[in-house]
Amino acid sequence: MMIAKLLVANRGEIAVRIIRAAQDLGIATVAVHSEADRDSLHVQLADEAVNIGPPAAKKSYLSVPAILKAASDTGADAVHPGYGFLAENADFADAVVAAGLTWVGPSGDAIRLMGDKVSARIAADKAGVPVVPGSMGRVASIDEARGILKETGFPVMIKAAAGGGGRGIRIANDLAEFETAFPQAAAEALAAFGDGGLYMEKVIGQARHIEVQVLGDGTRAIHCFERECSLQRRRQKVWEEAPSMALSPELRTGLCASAVRLAEAVNYSGAGTIEYLYDDAADRFYFIEMNTRIQVEHPVTEMITGIDLVAAMLRIAGGEKLWIDQDEVQIRGHAIEVRLNAEDPAKGFAPFPGTITDLRLPGGPGVRFDSMLYAGYTVPPFYDSLLAKLIIHADTREAAITRLTRALSETKIEGCKTTKPLFLALAADQSVRSGAFHTRWLEGWLDANSDRLSPDA
Ligand code: ADP
Ligand code: ADP
Ligand code: MG
Repeated sequence: MMIAKLLVANRGEIAVRIIRAAQDLGIATVAVHSEADRDSLHVQLADEAVNIGPPAAKKSYLSVPAILKAASDTGADAVHPGYGFLAENADFADAVVAAGLTWVGPSGDAIRLMGDKVSARIAADKAGVPVVPGSMGRVASIDEARGILKETGFPVMIKAAAGGGGRGIRIANDLAEFETAFPQAAAEALAAFGDGGLYMEKVIGQARHIEVQVLGDGTRAIHCFERECSLQRRRQKVWEEAPSMALSPELRTGLCASAVRLAEAVNYSGAGTIEYLYDDAADRFYFIEMNTRIQVEHPVTEMITGIDLVAAMLRIAGGEKLWIDQDEVQIRGHAIEVRLNAEDPAKGFAPFPGTITDLRLPGGPGVRFDSMLYAGYTVPPFYDSLLAKLIIHADTREAAITRLTRALSETKIEGCKTTKPLFLALAADQSVRSGAFHTRWLEGWLDANSDRLSPDA
């Protein structure tokens, strides 16, 4: 059942990443692209490319019929969805399988169970994994919410069951705010995700975001340790690292074991991430969600464990049983990833599409650059602003931060504003260097340090 020809149903750096993994395994590749992405790197690197429609993602990267037709026209026998777009769409997973193709990811049913944030919470609770205090199901009305508010208190989070990418979350500080926010959140969730379902969680103040990478073969699961993703802007990760500097060895063991328990409880197959909030003051962790796909920040785990997670996804989808024992997965050194987005940090991170007039890539020991960039490439305005991920590996966290600064200084991306100045400033910051931050820390830092974010600062 080994995959012979893989269609990559995505674009940008992750499409490039998946094409590389496939080629390393001797698998032929098919890129799909919108009319705006004709000249993109994933199209150039794949063995074949198919135009699947106009620039608007709804008409191309989100068009199930167009993607299935591209697979059938090219004779592809498998589909990798990447992240975003259709990656957590259970109906797409089912449609791929119904078309006689191999789906590189967990089954449609596993996505339905764990991709819905409400049913995932219930599954986590059942598997004995602590969840954030809140509703154990969807909350249909303000009346129903009142009972739950007695347990959570304020501030409380209203979250969309179908939310993702930092979207679909609101905080209410008192009952009046809650009563205004609740119907607004429902309407927004319906418009954004096609599902107005909401649930509630107590706000864990001063928490860290720590997530565990898992790999499963449907029967057995292993973890590949954790990633620390507390440096966030608008609930979106900007800088991720592995391992977390906040975990004691005992806590790491408990956290990772809980992730394996949950993955095995749902017969998880493929790569997945179980996300937690860790309250250092109370020394407690809480499940928040599972991402049933490859994540943006997967390379930091690859750097510290030496496991190629995308290749592992392809092998598992091809029918192999897990070939790695838990005790073979070891942490070596420390890795940091920063997300270089086409955004102007000096102007409130406004999107900044443009043409790359000059490009100088970083290199040397411990430096990895996962990107869709080449000199002359024009960044289209229609999609995610992620251009490149700079991933650093070194023996220690301190050495990784020094190397990050060196590699950022080598990196030259002309023609487009990027988030590089943010990372140079963060790498020099005392709190970042000592690891003393939580998920709200960066927003406060940005308010206080906006003057340090111009490219000439
Ligand atoms: P990760 O969880 O992999 O670190 P993100 O949470 O930023 O990364 O999500 C990865 C990508 O998927 C981003 O481009 C994000 O916008 C997109 N995404 C994730 N979930 C959804 C969703 N439910 N709806 C729309 N976009 C989503
Ligand atoms: P998404 O699906 O958009 O990734 P998550 O549920 O993973 O949404 O939450 C995104 C981020 O929002 C978390 O990384 C964290 O910073 C913050 N967050 C989520 N839930 C809570 C909570 N209950 N208390 C405090 N912060 C939270
Ligand atoms: Mg999340």
